[in-house]
Amino acid sequence: MQELIIRTMKVLNPIAEQKKIQLAFDIREGVYVDGDMAKLQQVLMNLVDNALKYTPEGGQVVVTLLRKDNYARILVADTGIGIPEADLPHIFERFYRVDKARSRSTGGTGLGLAIVRQIVEMHDGTITVSSKEGEGSLITVDLPSVEPPEKLQQEEVQP
Ligand code: ATP
Ligand code: MG
Repeated sequence: MQELIIRTMKVLNPIAEQKKIQLAFDIREGVYVDGDMAKLQQVLMNLVDNALKYTPEGGQVVVTLLRKDNYARILVADTGIGIPEADLPHIFERFYRVDKARSRSTGGTGLGLAIVRQIVEMHDGTITVSSKEGEGSLITVDLPSVEPPEKLQQEEVQP
């Protein structure tokens, strides 16, 4: 998963710089996940995109990777506007956006998290959110981990 996180950081770093948000990652352990890497990349892109979009200038976004039992745990934490408690159960619904007026200025369709949840569940994973209005949000994604891929055996060359 670390490669996907690093790639996401590289792609979204210019947006963070432009918004004067500190974007950092903390890879505690290398953890391997089996699946559709393009789709898992999309999950990370969507989550970090949200974190940057809903965090004002001067804020911070941190992506953490660690191992939790047999899962790769990815945490996306931001110091942004947060999500009101009443909206939390709905944010993974298609086209759901917390503040329609505010959202109109930031753009978006409200599909991002619905797609994210679908991809995570397709990989037998889970996604949860905790947030406090005005303080920030924390998204936790758990994906079943696999053993590191074996180094390819050197083929014996027949004489
Ligand atoms: P899209 O991702 O389709 O461009 P979107 O970002 O509005 O549009 P989602 O990613 O599905 O849609 O998020 C749904 C809503 O949840 C957002 O409109 C926003 O109100 C809220 N939200 C999501 N992530 C965050 C976050 N990190 N901080 C605050 N609010 C968030
Ligand atoms: Mg989004």
